Amino acid sequence: MASDQQYISTRGGGEPLSFSETLIEGLARDGGLAVPASMPHVATETLERWRALTYPQLATEVLALFAGDIPREDLARMTDAAYAPFPAEVVPLRQIGDGLTLVGLSEGPTLAFKDMAMQFLGQVLEYALERSGSVLNVLGATSGDTGSAAEHALRGKDRIAVFMLSPRGRMSAFQRAQMFSLDDANVHNIAVDGVFDDCQNLVKRLAGDVEFKRAHNLGAVNSINLARITAQVVYYFWAWLRATDAGGATEVSFTVPSGNFGNILSGFYAKRMGLPIRRLVLATNENNVLDEFFRTGVYRPRTAAETLATSSPSMDISKASNLERFIFELVDRDPARVNTAWHELDAQGFFDFTAEQPRFADEFGLVSGTSTHADRIETIRSVHAGTGEIIDPHTADGVKVAREHVEPGVPMLVLETAKPQKFADMIREALGVELEYAPELQAMLDAPQHVTDMADDADALRAYIAAAALRGATVGHSPVGADRHES
Ligand SMILES: *Cc1c(COP(=O)(O)O)cnc(C)c1O
Repeated sequence: MASDQQYISTRGGGEPLSFSETLIEGLARDGGLAVPASMPHVATETLERWRALTYPQLATEVLALFAGDIPREDLARMTDAAYAPFPAEVVPLRQIGDGLTLVGLSEGPTLAFKDMAMQFLGQVLEYALERSGSVLNVLGATSGDTGSAAEHALRGKDRIAVFMLSPRGRMSAFQRAQMFSLDDANVHNIAVDGVFDDCQNLVKRLAGDVEFKRAHNLGAVNSINLARITAQVVYYFWAWLRATDAGGATEVSFTVPSGNFGNILSGFYAKRMGLPIRRLVLATNENNVLDEFFRTGVYRPRTAAETLATSSPSMDISKASNLERFIFELVDRDPARVNTAWHELDAQGFFDFTAEQPRFADEFGLVSGTSTHADRIETIRSVHAGTGEIIDPHTADGVKVAREHVEPGVPMLVLETAKPQKFADMIREALGVELEYAPELQAMLDAPQHVTDMADDADALRAYIAAAALRGATVGHSPVGADRHES
């Protein structure tokens, strides 16, 4: 059953694109985000058949619904390769009492959930670049998790190079080691004299320089990337299949520690595809712009200065890049209303869906809550006392908010978005223990580091990229999928 799924823009502009054509930016040409032209639907009988599948097999089934332009045997090869670095089960579930179950999304090479999507993206990008005979130079900025997941997924690829900017001296020792211990020729770590926003501004300046961007085949693999969103849909199906018994359309709820609204958007898509999900509980930390939106209907992004540095740093966001994809469904896929909302946002600093707010929970199952540093400490302690398990601070935000939304008879699945080893300081503060590192992690921490220091200077970055970028045919807007009629 091949799908001929096409992708359209939330803002209504441009022609429909294939999956391969949306691979790189996620951003449509009119400034909107690429979304499926129609949401695939999975029938109950199909779901039941999927119970017997391994994780890569399930990923092939789900992704085939989105990537209609990629032959199934190629998809199967890519999902096998993508999840080979994981333990056999790929995504283990474990109960932690009080009706809560952790969904283990952090078993991959960088110990955080971004590996789940990035490992597949690495496979499918290289595949699409081979088909179109082109190359890609990925330029990104990271404060930790995204950069390391991208580098570990793209290292050693022939047609892809990675230029990853990070704020010098501002990542944890563990995060630095995860990135800088890589010595693959196609991975370029650049430590910028500045903060994360300076890194991001450098990326924006180069990405906005259309000529430079085209000449050097620059692209991104950030959280609005559509292939990442679709790869994340898979584990919602997997977790539902593991948490329910055969033969029932039993509903479960999920709680998702959230930042850019990427992870939970994938759950929202799974629910729209027919997966029996009752509630999608969005958990934020003190940077609770999304909790505010789901409670009130008013979305008011913050400035960098208003954004706090917290002890669950991967959720420290000022605005949520993927929210536009939810708004698109909220306004019944009317691009005119999406445009209006973003015009209001530009003009007055917020948009207001107060009148629609009751639908968030009633129609879409979306509810939310906030967790603080004190909550994280208390939650790490209580989970440890109850089960002996040590959870990371982001997962702790999830568990704290999940407890406020547990309903009798409805399993509550909390997504474990990172392993505690990434946040040893926080575990020491909460539990007074030193975490042990597995031998391969200790070796990584002790390995020589490879990084280039650079001033906060766009010309220096341009010169570095011009010298080190992979060269290949330039094929316009997107180096991937130049021929959209390829089978
Ligand atoms: C990226 C990240 C999040 C937030 O995920 P979004 O898709 O941005 O909502 C949460 N926890 C961890 C550990 C992360 O790395």
